Amino acid sequence: MSLIVVGTMAFDAIETPFGKTDKIIGGSATYVAYCASNFVQPVQQVSIVGNDFPPEVLQDLESRGVQTKGVEIIKDKKSFFWSGKYHLDMNTRDTLVTDLNVLADFNPIIPESYQGAEFLMLGNLMPKLQKQVIEQLRERPKLIVLDTMNFWMEIALQDLKEVLAMVDVLMVNDSEARQLSHEHSLVKAAKKIMTMGPKYVIIKKGEHGALLFHEDQIFYAPALPLEDVFDPTGAGDTFAGGFIGHLAKTRDISFDNMKTAIIIGSAMASFCVEKFGTERLREITKEDIDKRLTQFRELVNFEIELVTS
Ligand code: AMP
Repeated sequence: MSLIVVGTMAFDAIETPFGKTDKIIGGSATYVAYCASNFVQPVQQVSIVGNDFPPEVLQDLESRGVQTKGVEIIKDKKSFFWSGKYHLDMNTRDTLVTDLNVLADFNPIIPESYQGAEFLMLGNLMPKLQKQVIEQLRERPKLIVLDTMNFWMEIALQDLKEVLAMVDVLMVNDSEARQLSHEHSLVKAAKKIMTMGPKYVIIKKGEHGALLFHEDQIFYAPALPLEDVFDPTGAGDTFAGGFIGHLAKTRDISFDNMKTAIIIGSAMASFCVEKFGTERLREITKEDIDKRLTQFRELVNFEIELVTS
C-alpha cells in the first residue's frame, strides 16, 4: 500500500482572535503528510520548497515514514507563503497574502520509485500541476482524491474543470461547493459537481462537520465540539490526510469504508485546530487518536425507538 501526496509545503502567517504567528510551517501537503503517516507508510511526498525551508522539517517527516524524494529544493528562491486572518466565528477567513514564489515555476516530476502507487491525494495546488501529476502516473491509482480552494476557482477555473473530470473524489468546503456549482443548496451543489467528474463529493462545513455524497446517498460526520479552537489552518488538509490515510491503510474504497474514513478525517482535524500550525499534529500519539475516535463514537451513537410504531 502506498500513497502519493501532492501539494504545497509552505510558510504561513496566521491571525486568529487568540493570537498571531510570524512565519510558521504550513502548506497543504505538509498537513496531509503529518496526518496520513499515522495510518499508512510510506507517504510519497511531491512538492517544492525554497532555500528558506528548514531541513529539520523534511527530516522529521522522513522519520515518520514520509519519503521526500519528490520534494524539490530550489536554492535561490523562497518557499510558497500564505497569510490569512480568521473571523470571530473561526469558520471563515480572509486570505491576506498568497506569494507563489517557488510554486510559480513548479514542474512536478514523479520519481520512478513512486510509480505504481495505489492512492493519490492531490492536495490544494494549481489545478494545472495536479493534472500534470495524474498524467505522469503510468498506472492509474485505485483512488484519486482532489482538494482545491476558491483561489483556484477564481484564477484557473478551466484547468480546475479539466482535472475535476479525471478524479474520483472532490473535497471542498461549503462556500467553495456553492461557488463551483452556482447552487445554494449543498445537496444540489454536490449533485452538480458529480456531473463534472467525481463520483464522490465531500463538503466540509468547519465546526459543523462534513457531508459525503455518492449517487443518491448522503452521510454526515460531525466535528468534535471543542472548548477552544486556536487555529483552523490546515484542518481541511488534515481531514484529507485522515480520510485517504484510512482508505490507503485498508485498501477498501467502498462507500461504507468512506464513511469510516470521514469520521477519521474529522477526528484528526479536531487535533489540528487545538494549537497553531502543525504543532498539535506533531505531538499526538496512536493512543490519543484511538481515544478521540472513541469520543466520536460516543458523540453520535444513540438508540431510537420509532414513536409511530
Ligand atoms: P486549509 O486550512 O486546510 O484550507 O489549508 C491551509 C494551508 O493551505 C496553509 O498551510 C497554506 O499554506 C496552504 N494554502 C493556502 N493557499 C493555498 C493555495 N492557493 N494553494 C495551495 N496551498 C495553499
